Amino acid sequence: MNVHDSERMAGLLEQSGYERTENSQDADIIVINTCSVRDHAESKLYTRLGEIRVMAHNTGHKPIVAIAGCVAQQEGTSLTAGTNGHVVDIVLGTQRQKLLPMMIQKNQLSRLQEVDIRPLDDVTFPLGIAKRSDPVKAYVNIIEGCNDHCAFCVVPNTRGHERMRSKADILTEVKEAIDTGRREIHLLGQIVNHYQAPDDQACDFPELLSLINNISGVERIRFASPHPRHTGKRLIQAIRDLPHLCKHLHLPVQSGSTQILQAMRRRHSREEYLQLINLVRETVPEIQISTDIIVGFPGESQKDFESTLSLVKEVGYHSMFSFKYSPRPNTLASKRMRDDVPEEEKTARIVNLQSLQKEIQTKLNKKTVGKTVEVLIDTVSHKDKTELCGRTSGNTVVSFPPLSAEKEKLPMNNWVGRLAKVNIKRAGPHSLWGEMSAD
Ligand code: SF4
Repeated sequence: MNVHDSERMAGLLEQSGYERTENSQDADIIVINTCSVRDHAESKLYTRLGEIRVMAHNTGHKPIVAIAGCVAQQEGTSLTAGTNGHVVDIVLGTQRQKLLPMMIQKNQLSRLQEVDIRPLDDVTFPLGIAKRSDPVKAYVNIIEGCNDHCAFCVVPNTRGHERMRSKADILTEVKEAIDTGRREIHLLGQIVNHYQAPDDQACDFPELLSLINNISGVERIRFASPHPRHTGKRLIQAIRDLPHLCKHLHLPVQSGSTQILQAMRRRHSREEYLQLINLVRETVPEIQISTDIIVGFPGESQKDFESTLSLVKEVGYHSMFSFKYSPRPNTLASKRMRDDVPEEEKTARIVNLQSLQKEIQTKLNKKTVGKTVEVLIDTVSHKDKTELCGRTSGNTVVSFPPLSAEKEKLPMNNWVGRLAKVNIKRAGPHSLWGEMSAD
């Protein structure tokens, strides 16, 4: 979602006549789009501000600096108050993106610092403005904010309460993305499968997927992130039945211990989650499943952690995002729970979890060797430009050289956005390597 917010802000600035530069010394304006979901992501902002301060001191060039995103929303005026020598000029909340060009213009005239983090229910965004950075994939927001308040999560505070975008706007944006060459639509929402169109009572998430599936030119559809408790039979059947909907489900579990899940306020138990996984696998046997896991949540005992390991073994995820718990400002966990798992224990647990996951991924990927998979090509390999790279419907990364005969006919970059059949020859934990099929 942050990547797409950057695309939106870049588009707004381009509309106002600005051009992108790769070198911050040439920039008149620097926008830092921030993430506060983890402590590590947040601390990057302060490092970046330090670099800008040094650059301004050494070169005498002081660009307008705007901070956007979740840290801006969370910290507000403290970001301007604490910045010596006015490094920060503008602080822009997550719901105020559309104001960026106007705030810059005001600052150019007055040079006065400005903070706007007021909430806004309006989730409309001018269509066709986002400057999409990916030639193949288009992010499309369908929901903003969240009402769930999981104990560890900063999102309801930084992104506001849940607001649905209209079906009409979503479908128009999908068509616009396809018309400008994108092949894959990636729907975004904090609980993406909670979607209910405000402009059509009959349109819930499975229905929206079906409508997008029928738009001519849509090759693939993905979505992130669904919540287990809103993952019902109709959604699972949609994954089975809609030809353009990828056979991949990212289903965050967070912990394998029911007790910890309760403390996290996740509203599902280990048993319910595993039942859901069984239903998904029975309905869509070829599906690939991925997840998010937090280790070291307050109160997580060794036994709780072992429940996470056993769940991971039982499910057999194709990939995983795993994090060490860090208390985030204004969350339930930071206010009411003691961060009582020592840092070295968190580190030991994450190393253990990641090495188990690596083993599982390697085994699952090795099962693909000898098979033919369909890949949507999204890049030319950066190293030597001799290989193409893309993803399977299940979301596994595959690299391969084009057929020599085809190589003559088509420049490498023209492969991007095409589908290819690839015979898999080798598998590692994170990706596959193969040869393009002549069929
Ligand atoms: S459902 Fe997701 S976005 Fe909402 S509070 Fe929980 S973790 Fe955060």
